[in-house]
Amino acid sequence: MKLMINEIYHSIQGESSYSGRPCIFIRLTYCNLRCSYCDSEHTFYEGEELTIEEILEKIKEYPCNLVEVTGGEPLFQKNCIILLQKLVENKYEVLLETSGSLSIESVPKQVINIIDFKCPSSKMVKKNLWENINYLKKDDEIKFVIADKEDYVWAKNKISEYELTKKSNILMSPAYNEIESKKIVDWILRDNLNVRFQIQLHKEIWDPDKKGV
Ligand code: SF4
Repeated sequence: MKLMINEIYHSIQGESSYSGRPCIFIRLTYCNLRCSYCDSEHTFYEGEELTIEEILEKIKEYPCNLVEVTGGEPLFQKNCIILLQKLVENKYEVLLETSGSLSIESVPKQVINIIDFKCPSSKMVKKNLWENINYLKKDDEIKFVIADKEDYVWAKNKISEYELTKKSNILMSPAYNEIESKKIVDWILRDNLNVRFQIQLHKEIWDPDKKGV
C-alpha cells in the first residue's frame, strides 16, 4: 500500500485553530487544482513512493502526537483514506487539510477536516464541492483565503447561504502579500461575522518561500 509523498517534517501548525501547536506534516504529492496564488507548486509532481508502514516508521522519529496530512490535494490519492485510518489507529490526533474539491465522505470520523474552499480570486471557485458540507462535523474547520473585497463578500454570502457557522468553525485569512490583514479584520468587525481571523503563522516566522516549515 503506497503513497507518493512530497515531504514529511516537524514544525508548528500555522493555518487553523491548531495554529502554534507542534505538528508533524505529511505532505502528499499531486493536486487537481491550479490556484492563482498557489505557493505549493513543488507538490504537483515531486515526491517519492513510500508504503504506509514506512510513513508510520518515519513519523515515529518526531516526539509529537499531532499529525497533519496535507498537499497538494491529499485526497487525490485514494490510499490517503487508508493512511488516515492507520494514523487514527496509531492514536495520533489527525488533521486533514483539503481544498474541498474532492469528497470527504470516506474520511474517518476521528479526523479533523480543514476545508479550504476556494474563493473567486483563486480562479478555482467552480471546483468547490459543496456537498462536502453534508459530511462536516462540529469540530471541523472551513477556511476562506481572502485576496480582495470580492472574495470577502463571496465568503460572507457562502457562510450565510449554507449556515456554516452552525456546522463547524470558520476561519478567514489573508492571501499572502495580496491584501492588508487590517482590511479583512475591519470588514469582519463591521459585519459582526462569527469567524476566526488568522494569518499564515509559519510565513511570519520563516522565509515565506522556505519548504519544510
Ligand atoms: S489546492 Fe493548494 S496545492 Fe493545489 S493549487 Fe490550490 S493552493 Fe496549490
